[in-house]
Amino acid sequence: MSAERFEFQAEIRQILDIVIHSLYTEKEIFIRELVSNASDALEKLRHLQLTEKEVYDERLGLEINITTDDQAKTIAIQDYGVGMTREELIENLGTIAHSGSKAFLEALKASGSGGSNLIGQFGVGFYSAFMVAEVVTVYTRTWRKEGQGWRWESDGGGSYTIEPAEGLRRGTKVVVKLKGEAGEFSLAERVEGALKRYSAFVPFPIYLNGKQVNTVQALWLKPREGIKEEEYVEFYKYHAHRNEEPLMWLHFSVDAPLQVYALLYVPSRNLERMGFGRMGTSVSLYCRKILIEQSPRGLLPEWLRFVHGVVDSEDLPLNISREAPQDRALIEKIGRVLTRRFLKFLEEMAVKDTEKYGKFIREFGFFLKEGAATDVVNRESLLSLLRFESSFLDVGKMTSLSEYVDRMKPGQEEIYYLVGNGRKMLEESPFMEGMKERGLEVLYCYDAVDEIVFENAREFAKKRFASADRAGLNLVGLEAPEAEGGLDREAGEELVRWLKSELGDRVMNVRISRRLKDSPVMALLEKDEPSVLMRRAMKAWNPEMEVPPLRVSLEINAAHSVIKKLHELLRRDKGRALLVANQLFDGALLAAGLVEDPVGMAKRMFEFVAKVGE
Ligand code: ADP
Ligand code: MG
Repeated sequence: MSAERFEFQAEIRQILDIVIHSLYTEKEIFIRELVSNASDALEKLRHLQLTEKEVYDERLGLEINITTDDQAKTIAIQDYGVGMTREELIENLGTIAHSGSKAFLEALKASGSGGSNLIGQFGVGFYSAFMVAEVVTVYTRTWRKEGQGWRWESDGGGSYTIEPAEGLRRGTKVVVKLKGEAGEFSLAERVEGALKRYSAFVPFPIYLNGKQVNTVQALWLKPREGIKEEEYVEFYKYHAHRNEEPLMWLHFSVDAPLQVYALLYVPSRNLERMGFGRMGTSVSLYCRKILIEQSPRGLLPEWLRFVHGVVDSEDLPLNISREAPQDRALIEKIGRVLTRRFLKFLEEMAVKDTEKYGKFIREFGFFLKEGAATDVVNRESLLSLLRFESSFLDVGKMTSLSEYVDRMKPGQEEIYYLVGNGRKMLEESPFMEGMKERGLEVLYCYDAVDEIVFENAREFAKKRFASADRAGLNLVGLEAPEAEGGLDREAGEELVRWLKSELGDRVMNVRISRRLKDSPVMALLEKDEPSVLMRRAMKAWNPEMEVPPLRVSLEINAAHSVIKKLHELLRRDKGRALLVANQLFDGALLAAGLVEDPVGMAKRMFEFVAKVGE
């Protein structure tokens, strides 16, 4: 039977093109990726031996053999793992079996470079072999009794071939025929160096030309005292397929309520924020050093998806089943132990190393906020881990909510915040005037998610969150000094009545303000009105939905000269007074970010300008 030819899927062709033509740095990572695939295949086999009755070639050792030939310019990586059937070869090496390839392409576009650092993280590590290969040949025989050997081959162009191969043992052997400029990888010393770096934590013996190069160890089961910092760092690099150091890590074990060993890492960068798409779980589940699941769903809450690492528990059955309620419950229980301990770790870090914690918050604060908004069980701890800028602190300094609460004024019942595009805009907004007058602190938030956090969480330490751009703040007992020389009560009320009737549908309420100092007016949403952000979100979720028009209230500063003049004008010339009133209201809407009708606003402004010129 002769070889059959297949075309690579379009995305794979793109990846190959990039790998071959534009990834030049750190070519040696192909060794890490092929060894990691061999190790994965052995992990799967070890698991099958425990759960399946029959496995082909049962007695083969679980090991990885690497051979180099500097005459032939080849390097071969061979394992006795699960192997692949013909269908699996097509599926795993020729098509996008997982979303990894797409994510990788997007990540490459987003980062512009560093592809060789990224390639292993997106489930396309195999193709890194083409950085150095003229031809890659894969010999493989599945673990299933029925089945046969196959030979897969490609030069990284648009296609590959598959044909039967005789006399193969179980598992896979990847033979890389090196390109001229990559000949160094056929030298044993060169390969040994790379293996030492990348493969110290492979849980199976690795032999290079017959000589073992690694010591098999499960770092997470060893006592902390005996582990060097570099070992932690190297293990992270191996596990996360990354070439950068982690930001911090937590290594712990507990015996109750169940026995758990865990080693959890926080990466130094948030790839999701860099536009690399949503991450999956990256904490693998082991039972006594045996991998049960690489990315177990439901182990950790969604907001912890940035954490890398391993968790090992003897209490887990090897043939764990998602369908069995008791197994699911067990996974969740382990997850709760990890989550609680990790939160405690963050609390400690926040005190012990504020600089590092600040870095953590800048990179991963978003995830904590997501947690605070969605995870009711851990909400209070998550809220206390958040940090915000505030009107009481210099630019760049952050406060926790507990510190805010400690600084609250006697009689203050609410935690005030403002969400907006940057510090300057918030500092100068009319909403701050009354807060400054009263000496009240306001948290400055620059992220749409902040509003969702406060709206969902509602309160912290029994103090309600209140957005300072809303009407109905509880400022009882926090009166600001009364301004002098304003409109008298009667005149003020007259103006309010008139404004309300003339602005009509555009306004919900008009009031004399207790919160203005320098601005003549301000526009506010009433307490229970959905915010601009919420309204936008409602429209995004359901474009069909009729979102009711904004219901805004107007507050006027009776002590302000503009308001006093408006009152005079009202007596003389109602028509002009209305033009001015509309301009004031439009200005207030602009300052509050509440403009929903820019065309109408522009029309009113032109009309005003025309009148002024008369
Ligand atoms: P990933 O390892 O992240 O899934 P790769 O591109 O490295 O992505 O490998 C793609 C797939 O090819 C693997 O998921 C696996 O199914 C298969 N594969 C690769 N190498 C081996 C091997 N040595 N033994 C068995 N299967 C393999
Ligand atoms: Mg891989």
